[in-house]
Amino acid sequence: MELPADHVFAWMEGISAGREQKDILRIEKAAHFAIAAHEGQVRTSGEAYVNHTFAVAAIVHELGLDTDVVIAALLHDSVEDTPVTLEQIAVEFGNDVSHLVDGVTKMEVIQEFADHQGGKSQQDAKAESLRKMMLAMVDDVRVVLIKLCDRLHNMRTLGAVNIDKQKRVATETLEIFSPLANRLGVWQVKWELEDLAFRYIEPDIYKSIANKLAERRVTRQQFIDEFIADLQTGLTDQGVKAEIKGRVKHIYSIWNKMQKKDLEFEQLFDVRAVRVLVDSVQDCYAALGIIHTNWKYIAGEFDDYIATPKENNYRSIHTAVIGPNGKVVEVQIRTHEIN
Ligand code: MN
Repeated sequence: MELPADHVFAWMEGISAGREQKDILRIEKAAHFAIAAHEGQVRTSGEAYVNHTFAVAAIVHELGLDTDVVIAALLHDSVEDTPVTLEQIAVEFGNDVSHLVDGVTKMEVIQEFADHQGGKSQQDAKAESLRKMMLAMVDDVRVVLIKLCDRLHNMRTLGAVNIDKQKRVATETLEIFSPLANRLGVWQVKWELEDLAFRYIEPDIYKSIANKLAERRVTRQQFIDEFIADLQTGLTDQGVKAEIKGRVKHIYSIWNKMQKKDLEFEQLFDVRAVRVLVDSVQDCYAALGIIHTNWKYIAGEFDDYIATPKENNYRSIHTAVIGPNGKVVEVQIRTHEIN
């Protein structure tokens, strides 16, 4: 068992990027505060409990959130699980941090209350009202972001708990937390939560999809690289500046699509996906025109979420074209602002 205290230095290096010296010092103080608060506590895996709060703060940092949120993430379990009080946190780190920690603690309470009310699985309506309640009671969206990072780390380390708990936590993740991530537009978190949850809920299906994806990775990558090169040339010729990336299809979204469209694995494995990032909405439509001129598009696969954004403010154009060798390529076009 390695104590995080030994790793504070390395951890601090990672988290300091792009921050001012005074912020770095505050984070360092909070790191030592968290270590002292959680001293002697261990997780089910046997490692020091405080490793969890360090990991959550690192995820918060990766999302590009401000220093108070990173500090609140370090302290997010301290009021609930240790003798530390909100007043102490306010004195040491300011009211903003104590307010955030308070919000995360309250979300925890609502969730536990709901767990006791519900059976094994929340019904849809109930999950929906729980999500609404959580959003309504926190007046600061950063609280929900910390909670999502907390859940993400718990999902990443879910292998350490027993199977019953794995299923329960994974189900709750799909019913409550990935929809919250979707609602807030934190796609990276949403996808990872979904894939991790799916892995515990349907382990056999998850493994079979993951294996088949891995088998075809090399040929798929070559195909995508060539498609991207052609598309880049086409866009540059027309004066559209774009960044094009191959896009990993997420296992849960593949599964969902199979269910929704009643397709076989094989039909979906061959779907390749790229994302085109441009500077302006006008360029989105220019790029779309160029893509549809160069490759035949599939009528039923076109969605314009720029003209008609989704409720969660998702703005992107989706299309699918018949690429080289008759293979379908899904294309998403959006501005750099939307990640
Ligand atoms: Mn936690």
